[in-house]
Amino acid sequence: MRASAIAGCNHGSWKGGTTAVAPPAPARYWHRLADGRLECDLCPRACRLHEGQRGFCFVRAREGDQLVLTTYGRSSGFCVDPIEKKPLDHFLPGTPVLSFGTAGCNLGCRFCQNWDISKSRETDTLADAASPEEIAAAAERLGCRSVAFTYNDPVIFLEYAVDVADACRARGIRAVAVTAGYVCPEPRAELFAHLDAANVDLKAFDDRFYRRICGGALAPVLETLEYVARETGVWLELTTLLIPGLNDSDAELDALTRWVVDRLGPDVPLHFTAFHPDWKLRDRPPTPAATLRRARGIARANGVRHAFTGNVHDRAGQSTWCHACGALLIERDWYELGDWNLTADGCCRSCGARCAGVFEPQPGRWGGRRLPVRMAA
Ligand code: SF4
Repeated sequence: MRASAIAGCNHGSWKGGTTAVAPPAPARYWHRLADGRLECDLCPRACRLHEGQRGFCFVRAREGDQLVLTTYGRSSGFCVDPIEKKPLDHFLPGTPVLSFGTAGCNLGCRFCQNWDISKSRETDTLADAASPEEIAAAAERLGCRSVAFTYNDPVIFLEYAVDVADACRARGIRAVAVTAGYVCPEPRAELFAHLDAANVDLKAFDDRFYRRICGGALAPVLETLEYVARETGVWLELTTLLIPGLNDSDAELDALTRWVVDRLGPDVPLHFTAFHPDWKLRDRPPTPAATLRRARGIARANGVRHAFTGNVHDRAGQSTWCHACGALLIERDWYELGDWNLTADGCCRSCGARCAGVFEPQPGRWGGRRLPVRMAA
């Protein structure tokens, strides 16, 4: 795919596209301990740092008497993706989204499918740079309806993500996050107040999985999901990557999907995606398509109205069907849209039932394309 050069974006006081390395930015959410260390309050990991040390995420560091974000204004790359790739199936379907990430992560998932970014020691992957205003201007110029913080978790670059979201909002461009939701309550409120949509990973429904496989905990993630669903206007979808033998049992999927319906409601879409051996988890086979279909069946039986299979060709499992009459509403095959049977106000053309989501009268026509974008060109 041809890279699109973004040149001449000269808004704002710091011109990321023409400056190789942005200076570290002061970090929010930390306090001083009695022993002189600084404790980060951004995520439940609560790293305690001496002078010169970095947190587990590697990108938040102590410099002198403060914590800083070392990746403000820096990126591992920009790409225009279909919004369905996040995945978000009920948020402006068919539209392009300018996607980017930075480096590092506050979880340590052994199966990470983006480990070259999440586990990088930043300088080797942060080849591109852009100020918030440059990103917003580029999104507008490229016809993107939204900007996505993705590839690695925006929780750890919250200050940058919030500034980008503000710059985008000023131009009518929405902000989307792909996150594991492993964040403390106060920064969580700030981050989600700046978002329009989020896909949150629910990696398993088992705290032992989170502790042994991800180096985290389940409870903070469930708290985030309930917070977003109940206390914000952010459009929410969930993703569970199914790993054979680790989180794909009928019992666990039954418990997970019952919890989703009970605590988040039946309208939150749930994506089951396929694992492939990667990073430190190479002794498990790729997820069979039949496992994804089984998970979707359990979810639907438990009342999830919109459950999807991902990373496979499966028209039935990837399309949106009316929860009331069963009619096809949005036909999908991977990231490509087909038939569209929603009214201009997002209702089923057959029976009139409203379909939950953020829809426009017509779907976008971006298709499955990916367009890499070089901001610093
Ligand atoms: S955000 Fe980073 S530095 Fe802060 S507690 Fe989490 S892993 Fe540690």
